Amino acid sequence: MSMGGTDNVREYYRLITELDIGDVVRELLAGKITQESRQRLQCDCPHHQSQSHRSLHVMLDKQGWYCFGCGVGGDVLQLVEFVQSGVVTAGQSGPMPDSHRQARDFLAEKAGMPPLSRYGLTQERLEQTENDRLFEIRVKDALTELARYYHHRLKENSEALTWLKEKYAISDETIDDLLIGYADNESGVIASLRSGDNGFSKRELAATGAFRPTSQDGLNPFFEKRIIFPYWSRGRVVFMIGRKTPWTSDANWEQGKYKKTPCSR
Ligand SMILES: [Zn+2]
Repeated sequence: MSMGGTDNVREYYRLITELDIGDVVRELLAGKITQESRQRLQCDCPHHQSQSHRSLHVMLDKQGWYCFGCGVGGDVLQLVEFVQSGVVTAGQSGPMPDSHRQARDFLAEKAGMPPLSRYGLTQERLEQTENDRLFEIRVKDALTELARYYHHRLKENSEALTWLKEKYAISDETIDDLLIGYADNESGVIASLRSGDNGFSKRELAATGAFRPTSQDGLNPFFEKRIIFPYWSRGRVVFMIGRKTPWTSDANWEQGKYKKTPCSR
């Protein structure tokens, strides 16, 4: 079977990560689900000693997961990899580790598809598309981190918070759950996202659409003093919409009531 085009391999990843994370968890972590609600499964993590026995949270609505003990998370493919091998492949270059391929084959079988290695791709093409997927994941992780950053700015800004609630009649629970935020960039948003061991590169930040490259090789935030509505897919933010507020600049380019980043699916 031939599957030459990059788009087809992307489609392959799309299909296997479309499997419901709740179903996969119920199979892989049967007997380790300690608390269950409509939106969330809490599980005893197989890879750290937990006193609460429920540090691994699976968000059914967002189709993502996070272990608060191990400090890792991701989508359904990364969950399978984590449960099977105790590691999560994210944002590295070079060939994918066996743990990633094993998890991919596991989901492919559940989706009724052959392993990717049987599609007759050259090794080079396979690595290329695997790396493309990792870059996409890093970009979505950057958007998710940015949503978290803007969410904190909103929570510490009572004026903006009051304005949002009056305008949209939205509950605190929803604001926290979706990480709705306020684009206040003054305390160094870019430095914050770039810092730490796992900090994001300029290229990754520019690819989110939430930052614009400048002619001086820098980056400028796309949103300024807007309410930020993140849109989630498979555990990560995939795009953001910024709603104009009374604090948004009156400049021409800020006239639009809504601004949106490009969608990275
Ligand atoms: Zn854990």
